[in-house]
Amino acid sequence: MSVALRQPVRERAGARCEYCRFHEDHLPLWPFHLEHIVAAQHGGAEALENLAWSCQRCNLHKGTNLSGIDPDSGSVVRLFHPRTDVWSEHFAVDDQGRIQGLTPPGRATAWLLQMNSPERIAIRRLLLTSGHW
Ligand SMILES: [Zn+2]
Repeated sequence: MSVALRQPVRERAGARCEYCRFHEDHLPLWPFHLEHIVAAQHGGAEALENLAWSCQRCNLHKGTNLSGIDPDSGSVVRLFHPRTDVWSEHFAVDDQGRIQGLTPPGRATAWLLQMNSPERIAIRRLLLTSGHW
């Protein structure tokens, strides 16, 4: 893994997870990861256009997956792609701290990466109510 690419990817992301949007400062005990959007196992390159900044939880849940199941339709769909998709077109955060998937890739990604686990909702709600989100 290229150490030289960590800082440019982190800076491009504003030190936020490009999936669930937590900032590094929100999760100081869990170092963020350099995430391969398309894993090397699937031929993904070690290059800026294939890398994303990710919190540990999102990266570990995503693993090498490229697709997931849209919980609304049960269909297999591609996952959200941080380099080619716009976050706000696929996700929204409600006032309870839940990430809503707005599209099939958004719903499949939110579900697969467990963006709405109880502790993540609790942290997000605390950040929202304190104005730190
Ligand atoms: Zn995340």
